[in-house]
Amino acid sequence: KLHNTIQELKGNIRVFCRVRPLLPDEEDSGGDSAVVQYPNSGELVGHAIELFQPQGQKYTFTFDKVFGPEAAQEDVFIEISQLVQSALDGYKVCIFAYGQTGSGKTHTMLGHPDNLDQRGVIPRSVEQIFQSSQALQAQGWKFTMQASMLEIYNETIRDLLANSRRTSLDSQRSDGGTPAKQHVVKHEPNGNTFVTDLTIVEVSSWKEVSSLLRRAAQSRTVGKTAMNDHSSRSHCVFTLRITGTNESTEQQVHGVLNLIDLAGSERLSRSCATGERLKETQAINKSLSSLGDVILAIGNKENHIPYRNSKLTYLLQPCLGGDSKTLMFVNIAPDSKSLNESLCSLRFAAKVN
Ligand code: ADP
Ligand code: MG
Repeated sequence: KLHNTIQELKGNIRVFCRVRPLLPDEEDSGGDSAVVQYPNSGELVGHAIELFQPQGQKYTFTFDKVFGPEAAQEDVFIEISQLVQSALDGYKVCIFAYGQTGSGKTHTMLGHPDNLDQRGVIPRSVEQIFQSSQALQAQGWKFTMQASMLEIYNETIRDLLANSRRTSLDSQRSDGGTPAKQHVVKHEPNGNTFVTDLTIVEVSSWKEVSSLLRRAAQSRTVGKTAMNDHSSRSHCVFTLRITGTNESTEQQVHGVLNLIDLAGSERLSRSCATGERLKETQAINKSLSSLGDVILAIGNKENHIPYRNSKLTYLLQPCLGGDSKTLMFVNIAPDSKSLNESLCSLRFAAKVN
């Protein structure tokens, strides 16, 4: 009951923290997981996380939920399945994964799509939505689902489902290579939002979505080889638009599910950034801090929400605020080397929580 009250006060923004297990090579190098502790140990899901500095200083944070290293993909999904379901009821939903590179964002959002146990939020959400939409057919509902996938890199949108072999890298070439299409976010007066020239694919099964995810992954890899670990420097946005019509009751619903794997949150200082890398890092920092500012302003019910400060927030504007629903995962690496980054991530998340 108390939790419900807190939820009402806070509106439709929730923050979940997920701590990944130590990886085998971190264990080999004597990494200590004692850095992170859960006061309510023994449970898969708690509400508090504690960080310990070697000097003995302790930091405590509380969130709507905290998942420990032993929490399986299914344990995480159980806690978000209702939120996902609300997209079928016509809500606009955003689920973000925030955290430093290597903290488990992609594992949380995508996981291993072809391994039943290891599937992450995207495969599980898509499957649940298809299953539920089929069940609703008995009540006269017909659904159309449209998927798109894009990447925002250096404040530039790249279509991850474009058939063309061109990449956004082409657009940065000065040697006259064919420039990739420039994609622009359009907000129409009627409330309709779209991205120009973006590939939209109508989908009706998990199998179709799965092949889109593979196409997108390939498209991202193109960037990765040309530019060191491109995927950690860009935001990846998977969008499923859901239109439901009920012929007998003449009802219509328009829901949107946005599942976003954010760029790594590691800070300027550690990347020793210069030149192109500096530009990337500044773009990442700008968009992540803009996202934080927007969520904070929505939470504080401010009159002016600074959506226009970054491509990401401008793109997601209709799905952030109002009666839309937002969930942020803050992903944490448990090793002591990551302590400072973990602290930064938790402070960011605590600010928007
Ligand atoms: P990020 O996307 O934040 O850079 P990844 O999702 O790629 O991080 O995770 C880094 C590594 O840790 C990967 O090898 C991934 O498989 C592993 N990993 C992350 N989270 C978990 C988890 N909850 N359980 C097991 N392995 C995980
Ligand atoms: Mg990743």
